[in-house]
Amino acid sequence: MSKASTISTRIAALRARIDELTLASGRPAGSVTLLPVSKTFGVDAIQEAIASGMRRFGENKAQDIRDKSKELAGSEIQWVMIGHLQTNKARDIARYAHEIQSLDRQSLADALEKRLQLEGRTLDALVQVKTSNEPSKFGLDPLELEDFLSYLSSHTPSLRVRGLMTMAVNDPQPDAVRACFRRLRELRDEMKKLGIPGIELGRLSMGMSGDYDLAIAEGSTEVRIGSAIFGDRSYTK
Ligand SMILES: *Cc1c(COP(=O)(O)O)cnc(C)c1O
Repeated sequence: MSKASTISTRIAALRARIDELTLASGRPAGSVTLLPVSKTFGVDAIQEAIASGMRRFGENKAQDIRDKSKELAGSEIQWVMIGHLQTNKARDIARYAHEIQSLDRQSLADALEKRLQLEGRTLDALVQVKTSNEPSKFGLDPLELEDFLSYLSSHTPSLRVRGLMTMAVNDPQPDAVRACFRRLRELRDEMKKLGIPGIELGRLSMGMSGDYDLAIAEGSTEVRIGSAIFGDRSYTK
């Protein structure tokens, strides 16, 4: 099988599996979206995914979003930033991205707001929350979430908050992984009750190639899948 047809076959299989898991979680098929994560992969792989109907792609580096949106100009791709973003790269995201899922601090929100106003654009945003105790994972402390959402509500009109995102702990125990996803859903439910003006929390981005089944069981509305679509990443190329 050629590499290209592998990508479309994997996407079709994943969509079928996602629909099965969605139904098993008591929700209608189609209520969980697939976000292909194309980080480290080139234009050919992305074009094959486009041929399978994909339009949004996740990337974890601002410069890759900038470069790929130029290379693929005209394909009407919506680029989604999912990686840690330094404030000095806010301009590229304000200019080229459709959405950010890794919004995790006030200084970044301020930098994006300033750049978005200069560009005359808005950006959909999910707030990344740290639901595990792993020191290496980025994301906002859950205890700071309410204050952060209130801040966004009154200070950053160009950021349209639509939900929350998390990465689960890297643990062979499914219960430990699932607890992270449950935590995000419960936090979302708590925050929703507060009714903070302008803050919509319908979306929960959680689940990757290795754990999306658990995430869907806990209420994920969007899974971010890289290696299960595009294959193993080689960071040396
Ligand atoms: C790389 C990445 C993914 C996809 O990971 P896979 O295990 O390849 O599916 C999802 N979310 C984030 C934030 C990532 O950086």
